[in-house]
Amino acid sequence: MFNVYNFNPGPSALPSEVKRRAKEEGFSKDVSVMELSHRSKEYENIHFGTKEKIKHLLSVPDHYDILFLQGGASLQFAMLPMNFLTPGKKAGYVLTGSWSEKAFEEASRCGETYTYASGAHDQYRSIPEIHTWEPSENTAYLHLTSNNTIYGTQWYSLPEPHLDTPVFIDASSDIFSKPVNWSKVDLLYAGAQKNAGPSGVTIVIVRKDLLEDANTTIPKILQYTTHQKKDSLYHTPPTFSIYTMGLVMDWLKDQGGVEKIYETNAEKAGLLYKLMDESDHFYQPHADQLSRSMMNITFRLPSVELEQEFLSHAKEEGFIGLKGHRSIGGCRISLYNAVTLQSVNALHDFMNAFRRNHSC
Ligand SMILES: *Cc1c(COP(=O)(O)O)cnc(C)c1O
Repeated sequence: MFNVYNFNPGPSALPSEVKRRAKEEGFSKDVSVMELSHRSKEYENIHFGTKEKIKHLLSVPDHYDILFLQGGASLQFAMLPMNFLTPGKKAGYVLTGSWSEKAFEEASRCGETYTYASGAHDQYRSIPEIHTWEPSENTAYLHLTSNNTIYGTQWYSLPEPHLDTPVFIDASSDIFSKPVNWSKVDLLYAGAQKNAGPSGVTIVIVRKDLLEDANTTIPKILQYTTHQKKDSLYHTPPTFSIYTMGLVMDWLKDQGGVEKIYETNAEKAGLLYKLMDESDHFYQPHADQLSRSMMNITFRLPSVELEQEFLSHAKEEGFIGLKGHRSIGGCRISLYNAVTLQSVNALHDFMNAFRRNHSC
């Protein structure tokens, strides 16, 4: 049988167990999960069950709320400032790649912003070193992107808090890949389609007391409190996405939770970085050593022609999704939770063979 190894950057691989269950259980009754009313008892069990599983897996403290929204992480780029960037205040952004730039741009349309730190000067190869946050006066919040999906960099430790300045994190591409230190995070958000499930649902985990001071002059649909008060059932939620995300959470629990999956992720990324480091610069990771992402490895080969050959050979062998993002080119391996060690080993062997056949 021909194997397909899915390294897509997002939407990305789902665990095969999740696909089996969605197919068998999601459609086993006369009324499939997709056809349930979102006001029905059956759906409520799915909805609140998924929320409970997330709370448990990420050890979310009781003083945080978990919301299921739509519009992707991109809508959060706008909702955050609309809710929290009130007149007279500013928001500080750490720029570490394309997504944080987009978040910054949206916030700048809503109010006053400033660049707290930026890695733009070295093509976003490294995460700026910040030990303790030292925001300017009147900072409404600080924002960072924990994993930079396009450039292949990741934060390894989060800065120490500064008094009560809230810290907001876009964790779209590394949520559930490791534990979260909630003492350093006040709001965390992620589109589900990379590491949590199918597209359509956005997870927002937020400290409840922050919402008490949120802006109430914006349209209701854009206020976090609207969704919080109605348990994310203010309007029709993406029911099938939330259902499938619940299955991903069950799978994650079976894997031993986020501590355990972190070890596997480290092993997967470690194998490939080692191969690249020992490749005599044939495979050249974009990220500096200390900022390397365990989720997305962005890399170059010695020439654009070789990269094209690499990608087409890989595809013939069943390795898909390895093309780099159109904004920076090159190649990229996405190693989300559902990508198995077996797939990584197969890719590792392919990359070794490709190098042997193509270096002088
Ligand atoms: C993919 C991605 C986004 C965009 O997510 P959408 O759900 O498509 O809006 C934002 N931030 C990061 C870090 C991402 O990886």
